[in-house]
Amino acid sequence: MKRLPRLVLLGTGGTIASTASDATTLSDYSVTENVDALLAGIPGIEQVARLGYQQVFNVDSREITNGMLVRLATQVQDLLDDPKVDGVVITHGTDTLEESAYFLNLVLKSRKPVVFVGSMRPGSAISADGALNLYNAILLAASREARGLGVLVMLNDRFFAARFVTKMNTTRVEAFDAPDQGSLGAICQGRVHLFQAPACVHTEKTDFSLDDLGVLPSVDIVYDHQSAGMHHYLASIKAGVGGIVVAACGNGSLSPNAEEGLSRAVGKGIVCVRSSRVPTGIVTRSQHDEPHGLIASNSLNPQKARILLMLALTQTTDRTRIQDYFDRY
Ligand code: ASP
Repeated sequence: MKRLPRLVLLGTGGTIASTASDATTLSDYSVTENVDALLAGIPGIEQVARLGYQQVFNVDSREITNGMLVRLATQVQDLLDDPKVDGVVITHGTDTLEESAYFLNLVLKSRKPVVFVGSMRPGSAISADGALNLYNAILLAASREARGLGVLVMLNDRFFAARFVTKMNTTRVEAFDAPDQGSLGAICQGRVHLFQAPACVHTEKTDFSLDDLGVLPSVDIVYDHQSAGMHHYLASIKAGVGGIVVAACGNGSLSPNAEEGLSRAVGKGIVCVRSSRVPTGIVTRSQHDEPHGLIASNSLNPQKARILLMLALTQTTDRTRIQDYFDRY
């Protein structure tokens, strides 16, 4: 008889662990379910994998802090280091899922599958999407195809690389996409179809690991716009942040006060990255970046640029080295 893969399901909360007052309430809900209850709702799962579970925390994902992120990653790494564990599935709120998934994609050291999963509708809803998403995430983590791809995100029948995926819609079940790069594959009728592997550096090949992390430096995101003021930059400088990511306009272009605010921040030794408010495309390097001490975010959106900059700052404050991380990670 075929040996079933041994997986561990980690619960962190989110809509997938939430219920509302009645079946037609789709947005006002709160986290009520532990991860074992989610597992109990998946018929036939014992034929896919041998599953253990652990509750890491049980919150709405907007409440997740850097400390919680490190705790989650440490728990996952400990499981991956265990020869008796073949892979890990993590239930997570969708609002900040891409941040946690990208963080783990950069720090975990393993080729074993790690799959994030969430849902857009609470478990109490008509046509709730959580159970099938979770079933598919377990199928994916149990598959040979998922090995060595870095951290994956599974929702609505498709799976994505943590590096590229982003939440694109506030309420629809088809909320996640990687608009420029596409999905890595799909699960159809219980079968994993892998189309492509991500080319960006991840997991085992990065310079980051949980062993030498220490405390993550604080990095702020500032949103640029017409008639922007400088006070956000001055507040970040005063707060003593290690880095600032600006959600700039277009191809990372800066309003006059953003330019001045960043220039003052760089003058104080704060590392500053130009990302963009625009949801797709690459923020290209500019000839002005080096003289102004700025870094271009490549295709990382502001929230993911913040994750990479925090990790980069645990290694160096050298602009060229950090630009290289943004070019390759
Ligand atoms: N509010 C939820 C969260 O924890 C949203 C979701 O999970 O879909 O991010």
